[in-house]
Amino acid sequence: MRSSQFFLPTLKETPAEAQIASHRLMLRAGMIRQTSAGIYAWLPLGWKVLRKISQIVREEQDAAGAQELLMPTIQSAELWRQSGRYDDYGKEMLRITDRHDRELLYGPTNEEMITDIFKTFVRSYKDLPKNLYHIQWKFRDEIRPRFGVMRGREFLMKDNYSFDLDAEGAKLSYRKMFLAYLRTFARMGLKAIPMRADTGPIGGDLSHEFIILAETGESGVFCHKDWLDLDVLQNPPEAGSDLKDFFAKYTSIYAATDEKHDPATCEVPEDQLVSARGIEVGHIFYFGTKYSKPMGAVVAGPDGEPVAVEMGSYGIGVSRLMGAIIESSHDENGIIWPESVAPFHVGLINLKADDAACASLCEDLYAKLNAAGVETLYDDRNERPGAKFADMDLIGLPWQLTVGPRGLKAGVVELKRRATGEKRELSVEAALAELIKA
Ligand code: ATP
Ligand code: MG
Repeated sequence: MRSSQFFLPTLKETPAEAQIASHRLMLRAGMIRQTSAGIYAWLPLGWKVLRKISQIVREEQDAAGAQELLMPTIQSAELWRQSGRYDDYGKEMLRITDRHDRELLYGPTNEEMITDIFKTFVRSYKDLPKNLYHIQWKFRDEIRPRFGVMRGREFLMKDNYSFDLDAEGAKLSYRKMFLAYLRTFARMGLKAIPMRADTGPIGGDLSHEFIILAETGESGVFCHKDWLDLDVLQNPPEAGSDLKDFFAKYTSIYAATDEKHDPATCEVPEDQLVSARGIEVGHIFYFGTKYSKPMGAVVAGPDGEPVAVEMGSYGIGVSRLMGAIIESSHDENGIIWPESVAPFHVGLINLKADDAACASLCEDLYAKLNAAGVETLYDDRNERPGAKFADMDLIGLPWQLTVGPRGLKAGVVELKRRATGEKRELSVEAALAELIKA
């Protein structure tokens, strides 16, 4: 992509309405535009990152055996009356009436709808287990939408639903998601800590919130400092295992939100207890037959008797994750994207766009990087170098490759790593080799 053509409305001033870094930076980097309170348009740069985050979520869901489908955003009130949640859900639910006076709603979550779909098609225990997910917009009429995409009213969520014949199967499904979540967040450069949680309006017996530590988080959290050294990608559980040992290990290390933490009973010595703030990026529930019973999601068991299926649901705040990643990875100049979700891999900066030699080398580099599949944003604009550097730092691409007349004479280009600020002068070939391998 060429900057001269890209729709990237960056701002120099800090928007007054934004209270936290991620919100400020997303506005300044031209990623989002608020259209109503808590409702955002995703501009090209923001949408690119949102797709990358979604893709990691998708890959880990698929790897854990979940299957993707897509349910609509608009649901019928009738479905929610079957579970008894239509009245319970309260003012957070956006209720709509169509021209025939039928009551509809913009889905805040999908337990009812998926249970209805499941029961329509699945009749036998032989078809279990099943785990179905989608990545879809949700609407919750939050009383106080704030912090940009962190607490929006319309937001993107991955939600999935597991169906098992018995509690043992359902708990295995739960552990698989527990692992998939740890992997998903780790791949985005985040340390998400699962904490025992209340089940709230979803209901159920077993629940963990996945929380990343960040000063601007809305929840107070406490955890053993051992959490900070755990690395699930480096130390994966044995392939094909039932994950019981893995789950036991991860749930034995202390972690609790302030709602659950009790200093009087907490056994972690004070010097090993981390007290911090956190952002909830995911939440998983095992709730047994809470929806399958009232909604009649039964299958014929091995002995022919009807069995209400055991269910769990699992949510990831896909759009909130973008804010969470920025909260945990930025500096005073802008965002620092982890490679896995960066909108482009390289920012190619031409310091003198009207210099024929610079332009020709840049065109050549741009073509070679594209040919090698390295996503590149080429700043070919006729702007001051200072403005170009500032924009590149702001949008936070992992690498900056700078071409200028002085370096060109000496046969070198400059390669900067955004995360560390480290700069090196390299030959054109060496710089290319570095970027193509990285
Ligand atoms: P919270 O406690 O933050 O209000 P929740 O417990 O109501 O969230 P869940 O029903 O567990 O949320 O939804 C799954 C995930 O969706 C959450 O872990 C969070 O990451 C995300 N999420 C929930 N509400 C919002 C929102 N208003 N804006 C953005 N993301 C949200
Ligand atoms: Mg939650």
